[in-house]
Order: sequence, then C-alpha cells, then structure tokens
Amino acid sequence: MKKIIFSLKKNSFKNWEEVLDNPKPITLEKFQTGTVIINKKGTLNPEHPLAQDIKDEELDVPILAYCIHHKEYGDYLLDAGLDYSYYHDPLGGIKEPHADEFIQKKNQNISFHLEKRRIDLKGVFLSHLHPDHIAGIRELPKNIPYVMGKGEFKEYKPEIYGNFLKNLSIIYEIEFSRANEMPPLGPSVDLLGDGSLWAIWTPGHTPGHMSFLVNSFNNPVLLTMDACFIHENLEKAVAPSSYTWDVEKAQQTLEKIIDFLNKYPQVKVLCGHECKYDYIEPKME
Ligand SMILES: [Zn+2]
Repeated sequence: MKKIIFSLKKNSFKNWEEVLDNPKPITLEKFQTGTVIINKKGTLNPEHPLAQDIKDEELDVPILAYCIHHKEYGDYLLDAGLDYSYYHDPLGGIKEPHADEFIQKKNQNISFHLEKRRIDLKGVFLSHLHPDHIAGIRELPKNIPYVMGKGEFKEYKPEIYGNFLKNLSIIYEIEFSRANEMPPLGPSVDLLGDGSLWAIWTPGHTPGHMSFLVNSFNNPVLLTMDACFIHENLEKAVAPSSYTWDVEKAQQTLEKIIDFLNKYPQVKVLCGHECKYDYIEPKME
C-alpha cells in the first residue's frame, strides 16, 4: 500500500465565523451499520473527578457512517461502518484472537445503504482506523480515494483486529501540521476547497483522529466521531477512556470541542456512537 500526502486546498477562511457565515449546498445522511456494546464506565473516564458517580452499565450503541451530498462535488462517505460479514458472524469473519464483536441486523451493512440510494461515491474520509469505522471498506469500491489523518497508522493493529485496508493500493494522509489553526478547535482542513466540509484534527482517541464539520445551508453540524462517544461526554465534560490511545489528549480535545460548541451555538453536534439524538437533514432544494 502506497501512502500519499493529501494535497491541501488553499484555505480562504480565516476563522469559524467566516466559515459559518458562508454555508454551502451540502447535506448529510446518517447510516446505522450495526450495534456495539460498550460500558458506561470507560465511555466516561472513571478516573476523572467529574465522573465519580458513573456506574458499571452496558450501553447498546449504534455503529455509524455518514454520507455527505454536495450539489457540485458529489457524494463522499465519512467512515465506512460495517460490511455484510457481521450479519451472520459477530466477528465479521476475522480469525484474530482479539477481534471485536459487533451486532448487525439484515440490510444494515454500508453497501446496502449506498445501493438503495444509488449513491456513486467519490471518496471516503476515515475518522480513524478502529474496526467499527473501517470494516465496511471490504464492500466499497477500491478505485476512489481513501483519506485519513497522518499518524493514524501508529496505532493501527491489523494483526489484532483484522486487516480491513488490505485491498487498498493507495491511502491519502492529511498532514495536520501543515493545516491552518482554527481556534478553538485547532488544525482544520477545508476538504473540498469551498468551506463545505472540514476535517478537524482531534487527537486522543487515536493519534490521527479527525472530526468533521458539515457546513450546510440548513444548519452546520459537527460530527465529533470518537472524540466523543455519546452526548453525556459533552454534558459532563468528561472524555472517554476506553479504546483510547491517550486519555489526557482525549480530554483536551473534548474541552476544545465544548468551547467551540459554546462559542457557536448554531452548530448541531452528533457524537460518534450517539444513541439518544437522531438527526435528519431536510432535503436539499
Ligand atoms: Zn474508535
């Protein structure tokens, strides 16, 4: 597999105010591709002083992927979710001893959602390389660009979780060190070059983790991906510690997200494994 640096478009926006003042013809759709059981203890870091009362409690949370539709530039996927392999087998055919178990109902797999809507993908942006976010690649077209944050491979363990990237010949990596600082969130990249879709470096869960901002006419949406698993992370201001590469960095990132949401209350937020809130974008004119 060849790694190529993702070429950054010239950033013509100085700050988030300017971005949000210039919404674009982009809409967002959410697909559930399966379910995973996580524990509340760890979804909220139990070591954090604000999370002392967190109980040992299992949560069934969705495994999500998003599709964005841009009037001019077409359809892109944000994460791949799960492929059909999990419908009959919670391990998705992975024989490794530490493979994760997921639950999938009939017709939840990512290509089912895409085919049903006749979506012709132009590319895939991956928040990070955990199996519940990339297993779906196995049933997606391989002749389109796959893009992720640089540094993500540091924590990628295909020999433990399954090698979901094995049929990709090229991977594009975003060098956030060369991206514009967009306070309070930090290095952010205008993915399509018109301010419609942003990748924001949100390290902690993994080293190259990215969140996304979809700047649509109807309302801008921040997709935290796994920088924040559920809404309670935001409410309690406590980041996750389970499946987390660097808990301290994850907490710093969560606090930046909270600052951003307080500063721009017009932005809706969806968390990586959100179960409570549903979001349906009205149809684009
Ligand atoms: Zn993850």
